[in-house]
Amino acid sequence: MRILTADHLVTMNAALDVIVGGAVAIDGDAIAAVGTIDEVVAAHPGAARDDLGPVVLMPGLINAHHHSGMLRGTAEHLPVWEWLRLHIDPMHRVLRPEEAEAAAWLCYAEGILSGTTTVVDMWRYLDGAARAAETLGNRLVTVNYTGAHPDYDYFDTLDDNERMLRDWSGAANGRIVPWVGLEHPFYADDAGRERAIAMARHYDTGLYTHLSESEIELAEFDERYGARPIQALEKLGWFDAPRAFFAHAVWLDQSEIEVLAGRAVGISHNPVSNMKLASGMAPVAEFLAAGIPVGLGTDGEKENNNLDMFEELKTASLLGKLRTMDAAAMDSWEVLTMATVGGAKALGQELRLGSLEVGKQADLIAVRSDTPRMTPLIGEGPYANVHHNLVHAVQGSDVSLTMVAGAVVARDGVLVNADLAELIARVRSLVPGLFARRSAYLASVGDPDGLFPA
Ligand SMILES: [Zn+2]
Repeated sequence: MRILTADHLVTMNAALDVIVGGAVAIDGDAIAAVGTIDEVVAAHPGAARDDLGPVVLMPGLINAHHHSGMLRGTAEHLPVWEWLRLHIDPMHRVLRPEEAEAAAWLCYAEGILSGTTTVVDMWRYLDGAARAAETLGNRLVTVNYTGAHPDYDYFDTLDDNERMLRDWSGAANGRIVPWVGLEHPFYADDAGRERAIAMARHYDTGLYTHLSESEIELAEFDERYGARPIQALEKLGWFDAPRAFFAHAVWLDQSEIEVLAGRAVGISHNPVSNMKLASGMAPVAEFLAAGIPVGLGTDGEKENNNLDMFEELKTASLLGKLRTMDAAAMDSWEVLTMATVGGAKALGQELRLGSLEVGKQADLIAVRSDTPRMTPLIGEGPYANVHHNLVHAVQGSDVSLTMVAGAVVARDGVLVNADLAELIARVRSLVPGLFARRSAYLASVGDPDGLFPA
């Protein structure tokens, strides 16, 4: 048993309690007590005590949509579908397992250092990603970047996905949770889609895909199925999966929201990516009003271009306000909920993750409060601002401690289980080869747009 104490505790429990002078007792991988320092210390007098001092302790952040990668800053200024055709798909054709693994190590490290304790990673060659999470210490939902269609035979396959489900379910004391992934519903033919749904049922796990990220998908769904995307997927049996998860969902209308309401679904809102790729503004307030669980995601290093969930919190708030022209929209508590308990609910893990409550996993972060960005800090009363500071002022670099399942995985900007400089060096050494092979591939198919140097 050990006790962490802090100036402020943001619990994210149902009452959104903030405790000034708070403590958390941790027994193994779980939270054993939450309260004032006096209460928790009195209840556990023999416990080792770690006084974190001027910090806000809060639940670890859940990054509900993420792709590992190493294309940061090299695929700019294009809308989604051109961006996929010119940069991303050619990368997938030449990507090697050791490159995918190196990218995962570095991306998870970036997340851990900026307060992410759970990451949902749609990526390739996921054995390497699972190894990275197993060692680094973060929680990982693996989502294979799967193509199950003859036109998309350069992604992971459903066989790869099934191997992840078989080999990694429950690994690292339950920190690694494999799901079934499809890059997009269009990336599967009928047989592929049916197998993906059946696999999710067989392994009792979620089915994860991108959906309605860009407006042009609406016309394509209409042409193929004569329906809006969600209605089309309903007809195709998509919701037979134990949980259906949609990244983006920017272009859902009210009729689609009504189909999703009350079902075991989750949505990831990814405002930075949606703004950067000019995809649109998701109707998040309408999702929340319908009771649909919504998490928050950074999307990948190439569409963000960092994996800082605090930046995502701020952007979610600002975009929500701009979309409705209502400065009260997307309240700070609402946004913090998305990044914690909301994300946990969207993943069906709300009984284990998302808040500082007795019995839940000890996934928590400390955010420095002795900084200009956190000043003034008022925990209670009419001017209470801790939630607003966390959403609008704090940056990921203010995170001074990250704990997952009761184990400290980063402290004072240093990873506990890996050498960050080595992870960076490894990615740097692999990038020229990946880019050269991609250029060679594009040259071999004629590079019809003439966009890539040889
Ligand atoms: Zn994505």
